[in-house]
Amino acid sequence: MSKDWNKRTALVHGGTRRSQYNEVSEAIFLTQGFVYDSAEQAQARFIEAGPDDFIYARYGNPTVAMFEERIAALEGAEDAFATASGMAAVNAALTSCLKAGDHVVAARALFGSCLYILEEILPRFGVAVDFVDGTDLDQWRAAVRPETRAVFFESTANPTLEVIDIAAVAEIAHAHDALVIVDNVFATPVFSRAIEQGADVVVYSATKHIDGQGRALGGVVLSTREFIRKTLEPYMKHTGGAMSPFTAWIMLKGLETIDLRVRAQAASALALAEALQGHEKLARVIYPGHPSHPQYDLVRAQTGQGGTVVSFDLNGGQEAAFRTLNALQIAVISNNLGDAKSIATHPATTTHQRLSEDQRAGLGITPGLIRFSVGLEDTDDLIADVLQALGAA
Ligand SMILES: *Cc1c(COP(=O)(O)O)cnc(C)c1O
Repeated sequence: MSKDWNKRTALVHGGTRRSQYNEVSEAIFLTQGFVYDSAEQAQARFIEAGPDDFIYARYGNPTVAMFEERIAALEGAEDAFATASGMAAVNAALTSCLKAGDHVVAARALFGSCLYILEEILPRFGVAVDFVDGTDLDQWRAAVRPETRAVFFESTANPTLEVIDIAAVAEIAHAHDALVIVDNVFATPVFSRAIEQGADVVVYSATKHIDGQGRALGGVVLSTREFIRKTLEPYMKHTGGAMSPFTAWIMLKGLETIDLRVRAQAASALALAEALQGHEKLARVIYPGHPSHPQYDLVRAQTGQGGTVVSFDLNGGQEAAFRTLNALQIAVISNNLGDAKSIATHPATTTHQRLSEDQRAGLGITPGLIRFSVGLEDTDDLIADVLQALGAA
C-alpha cells in the first residue's frame, strides 16, 4: 500500500492481498489453518511469524489481515487487531494490559456492556475502577493517580451524545503514564482523529458503521505496532476472540463505502436535527454537529462533524415516546446503529434498562428520550417520517 494514498483510496485498495488467481474482489480465505512446505518451515513460523506468515485463524488469517490493514489506514494507526465483536475488542483492550493492583478511571456514561466489564469484571481480578463525569476535566484530574494504568471513555456518549475532549483527557492521563483507551463508535472512523489527539488505543464495534448494513458482529482494536503485537495479540491469540474470515470480508467491503455512507448519514442527521429544533412536543434535541449542542466548539475541533445519531426528548415522557416509535413508517424500532436503515431506540426501556432509575436520571436518559440512528434513506422522507410520528405523540 502506498503511503501517499489519501484515505478514500486506502479504503478501496488498502490491505489487498491477491491469490494466484488475481481476483478483483478480495477473496474469503475460509480456512482455519495453513499448510507448511516443510517441517522446518513449520518450526520457523512458530518461532517467528511475519505479517503474511499465517499459522491458525485464531492468530490471523489473510482476509482478516486485509481488513485490519485497511481500517488501520483509515484510522491512521500503525496496526490493528480484529475481534469477534465490539465487546471482544473493548474487553481485550482493557484486560490485555491490566493486572491486579492497577487502577482505571472511566467516564460514567458508557454502553451497558462496557460498564459491566469495568464495574463487575475488572474489580473481581483486583483492578480498581473509579468513574467520573467524562466532560468534567477537574474530575479526571482528581481521579487519576500514580497507579492509574488506563483511562477509558466513549468519545461521544450513548445515548445522550455528550462529547469528551480526547486531547485534554489524554494530557491528564499521560502525565501519569496512563494509557488512553477510547471507544470511538459514535464519532465513527470516518471523522476520527483520535490518535493524533492523544488516544493510545482506539476501539470500534465494527457491527455499527463499518459493516453499516446490519449483517455481522465484529470489532477492532487500533494502536501502535508495539501495543497490538506485544500486548494485545498474545492475549487475543490465547483467549480466542478472533474475527471470522467471512465477517472480515463483510467488514472489508463495508470499508469501501464507509466514507460515502457516513458522510451522507451525517448530513441527513444534521438536517433532521435542524428540522426538529423548537418542535412543540420536544424538550430537547441533541446532535453534536448542531450549533445548539453545548459542546459544539469541541465537536468542531475534535471530529468536525456530529456523527449519524440524533437524540430527542419528548415532553410527554415514555408514553409519548412509545406513541412516536409506534407511528414511524420508515425508521424501524431496533437497537443497532450506523445501519443503512434508520433505527429508533428507546434507551430507558431497552439498552439502558439494567441501570437504576437514579443512574439513568444522572446520565440524562429520561423516559421521553429517543435515540435515532440516521440511515441512508432520502433525507426529506426521513424528516417527514419523524415529524408525522411526533404528530402521533
Ligand atoms: C455497539 C457498541 C459496543 C459493542 O459492540 P458489539 O459489536 O455489539 O459487541 C461497544 N461500544 C459502543 C459505544 C457501542 O455502540
